[in-house]
Amino acid sequence: MKIAVPKETRAYETRVAAVPETVKKFIALGAEVTVQSGAGDAASIPDAAFEAVGASIAKSFAACVKDADLVLKIQRPTDAEIKSFKKGQMLFSSMYPGLDRPITDALAEKGVEVFAMEFMPRISRAQSMDVLSSQANLAGYKAVLEAANLYGKGMPQMMTAAGTVAPAKAFIMGVGVAGLQAIATARRLGAVVTATDVRPATEEQVASLGAKFIAVKNDEFLNAQTSAGYAKEMSDDYKKQQAELVAGHIAKQDIVVTTALIPGRKAPILVTKAMVESMKPGSIIVDLAVEQGGNVEGAELDKIVETPNGVKIVGLPNMAGRLAADASSLFARNHLNFLSPFIKDGALTLDEDDELVKGIRLTRDGALVHPFLTKEG
Ligand code: NAD
Repeated sequence: MKIAVPKETRAYETRVAAVPETVKKFIALGAEVTVQSGAGDAASIPDAAFEAVGASIAKSFAACVKDADLVLKIQRPTDAEIKSFKKGQMLFSSMYPGLDRPITDALAEKGVEVFAMEFMPRISRAQSMDVLSSQANLAGYKAVLEAANLYGKGMPQMMTAAGTVAPAKAFIMGVGVAGLQAIATARRLGAVVTATDVRPATEEQVASLGAKFIAVKNDEFLNAQTSAGYAKEMSDDYKKQQAELVAGHIAKQDIVVTTALIPGRKAPILVTKAMVESMKPGSIIVDLAVEQGGNVEGAELDKIVETPNGVKIVGLPNMAGRLAADASSLFARNHLNFLSPFIKDGALTLDEDDELVKGIRLTRDGALVHPFLTKEG
């Protein structure tokens, strides 16, 4: 079995889908691995580090995937990259077919077997394969560091001979994987942290991290979690009440990190222009949902917008990718953890009845098979 690890070419991408540690393990399982030259550069992994564990280096994308049975990627291929794929090859990558359907359609037409890593079912057995979690955790951490960097004051309370520096007030909106790590990081840096979410289960999680939970706790809140553990889209009435609660609170905050997402839909607006205008000069807002439409009015992708009242709104994309080495390592292990149980004597045989395989398989023999893509779904 031949595995290809090409260099990522999409905008803002710094990560690579395999690292020397996982390449070594794939080789120990009997695979041959070809890495595209420069694939690990942005993650500080030189070609030589891949060669040292037994990988071959290919000069181009086309040369890298040419004879591959399996292609491991971080981002869905580009139109140019699709030209190099062949019928029967298997692609494991994040795909986001809801965001970019034509890419999946084109790969299906070519007969490529496509697996979307972001569709990994969120069950205990699959935790070590969950790219959404591994990357969101790093994003939540880095978001707070970006905020701390831009913030013109200290985060912890500091009692000095020259006087006391007050602790920063940080408010985390959306307490999923990214939000929990953002809370923990802001706490470690010494901020006074509050957080909000629409899922009741998060109240206890917030308290366990030493932060204060605030939310509109009505009947809708009590039923806001889907059976899959995600948030439902809230009613206009709930959003209005939530906005009123947040409006009073946010004006007193120094740092706000927003992470709220609804699977398959545009992210909800949680911070309005009026709320931004109510904040103090020097306050920092980091919108981690900016690539899904944004939680903050006025956030712009790949920009740090400074508002007339002196608030900075950070809309940096691929926050996890700003920790390219760790993000690559964890993504690569997610790939390895999913694939390795199905590799025997150097060959991959997927169990098509396995709920994880069913959960991530988008195409089969040229047809779209995932419920997300078929009429029945
Ligand atoms: P996510 O990225 O989809 O959303 C981030 C957070 O935003 C969520 O907590 C969501 O409730 C919140 N949110 C949505 N709309 C909001 C609004 N209007 N106002 C405030 N907050 C809002 O979530 P996620 O990080 O992927 O995690 C979702 C759930 O899945 C969590 O319960 C998590 O523990 C669980 N999970 C389970 C597994 C597993 O078992 N394998 C793995 C990862 C996550």
